[in-house]
Amino acid sequence: MAQLSPVLTQATPVLAARGEGVHLYDEDGRRYLDFTAGIGVTSTGHCHPRVVRAAQEQVATLIHGQYTTVMHRPLLRLTERLGEVLPEGLDALFYLNSGSEAVEAAIRLARHATGRQNIVVFHGSFHGRTMGAASLTTAGTKFRAGIGPLMPGAAVAPFPQAYRYGWSEEEATRFALRELDYLLATVSPAQDTAAFVVEPVLGEGGYIPAPPGFLEGLRERADRHGGLLIVDEVQTGFGRTGRFWGHEHADVRPDVLITAKGLASGFPLSAIAAPAELMGRAWPGSQGGTYGGNAVACAAALATLDVIQDEGLVANADAMGLRLRDGLRKVASAHPVIGDVRGRGLMLGSEFGTGGEPDTAAAQRAQREAAQRGLLLLTCGAYGNVVRMIPPLVVDAAQIDEAVQIWSEAVAAAVE
Ligand code: PMP
Repeated sequence: MAQLSPVLTQATPVLAARGEGVHLYDEDGRRYLDFTAGIGVTSTGHCHPRVVRAAQEQVATLIHGQYTTVMHRPLLRLTERLGEVLPEGLDALFYLNSGSEAVEAAIRLARHATGRQNIVVFHGSFHGRTMGAASLTTAGTKFRAGIGPLMPGAAVAPFPQAYRYGWSEEEATRFALRELDYLLATVSPAQDTAAFVVEPVLGEGGYIPAPPGFLEGLRERADRHGGLLIVDEVQTGFGRTGRFWGHEHADVRPDVLITAKGLASGFPLSAIAAPAELMGRAWPGSQGGTYGGNAVACAAALATLDVIQDEGLVANADAMGLRLRDGLRKVASAHPVIGDVRGRGLMLGSEFGTGGEPDTAAAQRAQREAAQRGLLLLTCGAYGNVVRMIPPLVVDAAQIDEAVQIWSEAVAAAVE
């Protein structure tokens, strides 16, 4: 009899039978508040009726209209609609299935468009598990160890991790930009540097927002040296941070934007967006894939955009995020084991450990205690010591308050 590979790890023991809104239900009908949203994917909540209806109608009409063979209407409509929410000038889109694949596509594009090889990423980055994306991933050795040699040409500069350094955000930003300049002067010459790839909020690396001035500093250097600024909005996009895109908290325009996760409410779909002129520098046919831009996924993405707009989910993420952050800060102030609470919108983390010493065991206990009490959470950070909350963007005040109450009990039980 076959079994699942032992390589699979699972954060909770839940066998999910169905989902509705912010809740998952197991086979015995037990209800869980899902503050993982499938790692930040089910932005409109589980099985939003409008997403379900759009997908059902599309399934009965055309499931797979393979886009390098024939074109289909959902892909054209989605392209038009995304054009309304993308930063100005990023008017060409290419579709894939996962975040990692879109990162690969962005690497190809950057190398084609600039004729340069090197990609600079920022320490704590997570860009995916495929070999190119894994080469850009510095959020933990588990993503890299034993699988090398990785793709050459990746260079790592510091991300301004103020709490870890014990500095202010200004000091951390100044340090990170100075080190980036040093990297460009010593390791990755400007004329060889194709792009900076950055997450507006460091995700798997510990839920650390780019402080004010950091993305602007990258933009300035990309302009000065002629490289591209690529924002990986796989986790931060689609309203997650309380703005439609995570980079909108800064005053920058990226050259390339990568999106996935929240884009299609759970259907596999990702995309890269860039100015058509830039995309046009890649060779025709140099990007592709069998399943990219699947018709059902595109129909679900169109419904997702409708729901986000009609239900005001970006504003809700902002308001509910502030409410959740206040609640998490109260819990942290009662428990000194939590050294920092941070994030943007509904992308919030509580870091366990103080004075630069991670307390991974306490974080993992708190995560388990929460799951036992019906609140599903994930951890992140290089040491797994940051417990993160990424509920669906439809979450309401009562659900936030319930989650904070459970979290407070879970942390108390974890540090007993
Ligand atoms: N980039 C970021 C910022 C991510 O958070 C993730 C997934 N956690 C990825 C890329 C990879 O996406 P996927 O798992 O869909 O390949």
